[in-house]
Amino acid sequence: MLGRTLSSLAPGRDARATTASSQDSLWQVLEQSVDAAFVVDARHRVVLFNPAAEALWGCRREDVHGLPFTRLLAAPQTASSPEATLAALTGSHRDATLRRPDGSEIACSVSMSRMEVGTHAFHTAFVRDTSEQQRQLARLRQLSIVVDSSDNAIFISSADREVVYVNSGFTRMLGYRLEELRGIRPAQLLSGPHTDPSLDARINRAISAGEGLQTEVLLYTKSGRPLWLSAAINPVHDEDGALLGLVSVLSDITRTKMHQVLHNKVLDALVHEWAVTDVMTLICREVEHIAPELTVSIITVDSEGLMRTLASPSLPEAWARKVDGMAIGPRAGVCGAAAWRGRAVLVKDIASDPLCANTRHLTSPLGLRACWTHPIKSSSGRVLGTLSFYYRENRGPDELHERLADTCLHLCSLTLEREQTNERVHQLAFYDTLTGLPNRIMFSAKAEQALANVAQANGTAAVLFIDLDRFKRVNDAQGHAAGDGLLRDVAARLSEELGGINIVGRQAGDEFVAVLPMCSAEQAGSVAERLLGAIATPTAAGLMTLHPSASIGVAMFPDDGRDIDLLVRHADMAMYRAKSDGGGGFRFFSVDMNRLAQERVSLETALRDALRLDQLQLQYQPQVGGGDERQLYGVEALLRWHHADLGVIPPSRFVPVAEECGLIAELSLWVLRQACKQMADWRRRGIDIPRVSVNISAINFREPALSLQIAGLLDEHGLSPDDLTLEITESVMLDPDPDVLENIEAIYVLGVRLSLDDFGTGYSSLSHLHRLPISELKLDQSFVRDIDTSAIARTLTSSVLRIGESLGMKVVAEGVETESQHRFLTEQRFPVLQGYLFSPPLLPAPLEHWLTEHRYTAAVEAGPAPVHAT
Ligand code: C2E
Ligand code: MG
Ligand code: MG
Repeated sequence: MLGRTLSSLAPGRDARATTASSQDSLWQVLEQSVDAAFVVDARHRVVLFNPAAEALWGCRREDVHGLPFTRLLAAPQTASSPEATLAALTGSHRDATLRRPDGSEIACSVSMSRMEVGTHAFHTAFVRDTSEQQRQLARLRQLSIVVDSSDNAIFISSADREVVYVNSGFTRMLGYRLEELRGIRPAQLLSGPHTDPSLDARINRAISAGEGLQTEVLLYTKSGRPLWLSAAINPVHDEDGALLGLVSVLSDITRTKMHQVLHNKVLDALVHEWAVTDVMTLICREVEHIAPELTVSIITVDSEGLMRTLASPSLPEAWARKVDGMAIGPRAGVCGAAAWRGRAVLVKDIASDPLCANTRHLTSPLGLRACWTHPIKSSSGRVLGTLSFYYRENRGPDELHERLADTCLHLCSLTLEREQTNERVHQLAFYDTLTGLPNRIMFSAKAEQALANVAQANGTAAVLFIDLDRFKRVNDAQGHAAGDGLLRDVAARLSEELGGINIVGRQAGDEFVAVLPMCSAEQAGSVAERLLGAIATPTAAGLMTLHPSASIGVAMFPDDGRDIDLLVRHADMAMYRAKSDGGGGFRFFSVDMNRLAQERVSLETALRDALRLDQLQLQYQPQVGGGDERQLYGVEALLRWHHADLGVIPPSRFVPVAEECGLIAELSLWVLRQACKQMADWRRRGIDIPRVSVNISAINFREPALSLQIAGLLDEHGLSPDDLTLEITESVMLDPDPDVLENIEAIYVLGVRLSLDDFGTGYSSLSHLHRLPISELKLDQSFVRDIDTSAIARTLTSSVLRIGESLGMKVVAEGVETESQHRFLTEQRFPVLQGYLFSPPLLPAPLEHWLTEHRYTAAVEAGPAPVHAT
């Protein structure tokens, strides 16, 4: 069939006989070729197209026979003449692209030759599909571009470790070209001063085990720059398992290594609350591991501008000790200057740089020749410390060092800032901001520990409770700044006197506590004495000089208690006793005091009940005219409490309790109401009592409604304001609370008189007297008591009278008990007297009886109008 076909396509009839047989045999060979083959005649037409060609082109021979052969090829190859195309394809393995009738194209390799069969000239072509091969090649090309453009260094070495291929990444990363690597083992070539010396052996071991090796290693570039590389070295074997070579991929992990190691480790340390020096030592060590040519030190700068070495693990301790405490400054070495300038400082030659004139004696003997220091700054830009890289050569930082510095500075400032924040938080949480002493929490913790130690040693300890006397008055009279100053002074004195193993803390307000471990009661007594002396040193407050004093209570461990809370409570009770004994002294705790304290608590409950059940009474003590005219000036209402079980409880005991527990407002209101009711009753019954004085606590004046309540009561009982006098103490005048002044004003406007009770005992200066609308002064009983025995008391008594008079006030002498006192006071022309000599406080009925019995009549006059300068 094929022969027929070819015969019909054959050229001339003449040549047919001579050529037919050779042509046929050729044609047959072509026909059976496994490669696609076609034959082109002299007129460029296809005259043979074998089955393999049919398969390759995807068409039948009938479709192509007689057509120009160029139809079989894709356009570019047929652009010029058919002759030129033939010429181009003639030869072996010419690349060409064939075109199929369906339009698709296939890469192929054409081997074409010209042959003459008789007079006929043909071109025979063998065509092989190379599309797969081409694809492979293209992929290879692509691959090599990828490999080359990869940042990783990739190299292939033969079984005997000769490098046969490096990608361009290798050259870029490490600086070597393939030619430079001939005959050298790469591991040797790339090793440097700090490369792990076991690297080569590790590779060998892995390879002989038929395994790959994945490792991190410090290698050096051609220029000597160190790089942390992650190396993956994989063996390649042939089908028989023989080692063909190694494919190694190196990637630069210098940066990731730093981040990974430094960040992770340091952050982990921070999270686990490592001490700042430990974190800094970790940073130094890691940096020195990554860049072994560096010696690292980290220094912090304290609030006084002094350097404090935090970490320098590779430098001798003596160096750290000498640097510690040096001041920063423009010429204070590289670190000191960097901290001073707030900028990085590089000194490439410590030996000659003038900056190091004062410090090179510390560094040079250690072989350190250059130094690069960065200030460590807070987020707000404040210099917290310095990070120094020292070199043993005269050089500056390379890129790795720069990157390391970047990373470390961030971590260092994080660490130092955390430290400062922690310190601040710690300070705020455990130390008193005013005095810097441990607060209650810190004191308790420290004391508890100290007591545990004392217990272990079978020793005794003393707990002191120190409370300033009349501190509130200092605060009120001189202002809070003066009060704060006094507290700071006292805190400093206590710390100075105590100190050592003793613990001092501020409990609250003007209360301080101290624990003296391993201290006997005798020793505690003399310490308390010494403290009282130290506190009593005069101190300046603005333009004033204060003469502070304190009361101290002492409780002993373990006799008075085993835990610090109980000991402090007992020391507090003892202090209270010291205070009520006049202040300025110390007392030891006794079981008695405990009982008293407990009584106070039950007193409070009982007082609430008494108020509720109306168990309180008022007694009235007459105030009489100074002459012998039997004139009644007024009565003072005094509270009486007769408790069913406790008996008579004096106001001096329960009034302070009422003040402390917040019952005083209710109590005073009860007294006022009762007194008004009584006055109204006397008025109604024609019993002529000119006025009633009621004692009002200082705290009552802070109640904004006080004046309104008083006005309401007077109104309710049909009394006039001058029927009532309020006795106040000096502390009312000194109270800075604006409500107090407003109340005083309102009460004055209302027309109710104010009397200053217990005058002469307090702190108040006379200057306060004419600032306030006071109508009456009550000279304290203590002056009257001493009239007979003390010339000073007599002088003071008459002075107070003169002062009162000159300020237009009526002066009342209290506590008159004897005739001689009476005589003196009358001689002095005291207008009003009060005391047992005339009458004790009495219930209304006995008072009425007393009045009639002694034929007292109401004094005519009400005294001069008060001076009011507000
Ligand atoms: P005070 O206001 O100075 O009252 C005078 C105190 O001296 C009264 O004591 C009175 O009984 C006492 N006394 C009177 N004459 C003599 C005398 O010749 N010799 C002596 N040694 N004492 C004399 P009392 O009633 O025990 O009151 C003591 C303090 O309690 C009062 O001192 C006053 O500050 C306070 N107080 C009394 N009643 C009340 C009240 O209703 N409210 C308030 N807030 N305090 C009151
Ligand atoms: Mg009074
Ligand atoms: Mg009094």
